[in-house]
Amino acid sequence: MIEGLKSSMRAISAYRQRLIGIDKVLKNRDQTSWRSMQHDEEWMFIHMQDEIVCLVCRGHGFKIFRGDYIPYKFMYFSFLDSLTIEPNVHTRCRCILEWLNAADAIRGRLEEELYMYDVIVTDP
Ligand SMILES: [Zn+2]
Ligand SMILES: [Zn+2]
Repeated sequence: MIEGLKSSMRAISAYRQRLIGIDKVLKNRDQTSWRSMQHDEEWMFIHMQDEIVCLVCRGHGFKIFRGDYIPYKFMYFSFLDSLTIEPNVHTRCRCILEWLNAADAIRGRLEEELYMYDVIVTDP
């Protein structure tokens, strides 16, 4: 009886530690937000498939760019939404960059943070 109670207390304590760790990770996320433009990101350059696409845009066609490289390569870029960027290679550029590995990259970052805050992700 006492042993059972002790083991329950240990389990509760372990869960409590995990929740505290998860809370820290989420608070950290709230402060730093879900920042993109990092090296683990893979963005694909997509241009229109018609005859008025210029040679420069065509030249970037379907190449993969790392997130941290985009601000240097495409100085006038802007976000269309969190997964889509307009590179604005020139005025009236119709190209977009699509974030291919968003789910993997974000999962990887979360796992890294959970590890950093010592949150056990497997069941005890
Ligand atoms: Zn172009
Ligand atoms: Zn273009």
